[in-house]
Amino acid sequence: MKYKEYKIYCEQEGLEALEAELAKLGIEEIIINDPTDAELFSPEKSIGWFWNAVDESVLVQFKERPSVCFYIEAEEGAEGSGGAAGAGDGAGRPGAADLDPSDSRTERGASGIARERLSADQIRRRDWGLTQLLKSYDASVSTVDDQDWLHKWEEYYVPSRISEHFVVKPDWKEYDPKPGEQVISIDPGLAFGTGTSATTYLVVRLMEKWLRPGDTVLDVGCGTGILSVVADRLGASSILAVDIDPEAIDSTRRNARINGCEDKIQAVQGDLTKGLSYHADAVVANLISDLVVMLSPDVAAHCRGRGLYISSGIIDGTEDRCRKAIEDAGFEIIDSLHDDCWTAFAAALKQ
Ligand code: SAH
Repeated sequence: MKYKEYKIYCEQEGLEALEAELAKLGIEEIIINDPTDAELFSPEKSIGWFWNAVDESVLVQFKERPSVCFYIEAEEGAEGSGGAAGAGDGAGRPGAADLDPSDSRTERGASGIARERLSADQIRRRDWGLTQLLKSYDASVSTVDDQDWLHKWEEYYVPSRISEHFVVKPDWKEYDPKPGEQVISIDPGLAFGTGTSATTYLVVRLMEKWLRPGDTVLDVGCGTGILSVVADRLGASSILAVDIDPEAIDSTRRNARINGCEDKIQAVQGDLTKGLSYHADAVVANLISDLVVMLSPDVAAHCRGRGLYISSGIIDGTEDRCRKAIEDAGFEIIDSLHDDCWTAFAAALKQ
């Protein structure tokens, strides 16, 4: 499916008014790039909470000019890429009928009219009734294919050796394992967990060392289900995978199937361990520091036997807080690994 991507750049103060104008045209699904939003990620400006980690690439977009972006389905045979339009100053006023949502053809839907009428040139020439706010603005229109967005990242997902024995590979790529290698195929869909994040592979390494064949396993925050598949490969007898996100449940079931362990892994939607009556020999939880702190007391209640508890997603500077929460919940830390600003702990119930 092809879409036209419209991007209108303007002054920061004009963003809200521009949003309102677009809403009048029935264009409500918009992406606003407001550089002042970058402050949300700053610990000093945050209100009571802050982000654990922010990828540089997220911050880069805030350095761009303020803009509003939206997509409209491109009609079959419609003109292709409109190309970039030059800078405008709101001076060359278009005719009154241009983009008028009260147009008699409104029965075809405001966005239908927008689709028909919005060209880069029209956007550039359009007054939007905001001449004062949009002191200077310009626009671009280009045609994009949704398949490009969905699959762009796949280029960067290549088979990777993530621990002593495990290699993760995308389901759609071939890989010839070397002697002693265990290959796990992942088709993530929209879930987290290709295996290449330190938060994931630190858990895999601790599982390799501490999980015992026959253990029952609870995987809290399963994402793609990668840790559940690792548990299966290490000889777990049964695995319950939980995630709050339904996409993760689909992904876990798909990956269990791909790796031939769907009979071993049960995936259910849920909030941490709420409502679960399952008791496991080992709990694995790759979350974030705050959730590790929150989860730890509940883990003890869902453990049996030696009660192995492997937690991850613990960003530098929060290890002590997490360690305390784990110990206060009745565990003893028996191992830890660190890489790339992340720590993972392995703990066992104090007997
Ligand atoms: N286990 C995978 C994914 C970890 S990402 C791996 O190690 O790669 C963390 C996962 O926790 C995400 O899929 C997210 O949806 C899930 N999650 C976040 N909050 C949760 C909660 N309150 N209850 C259950 N799952 C949660």
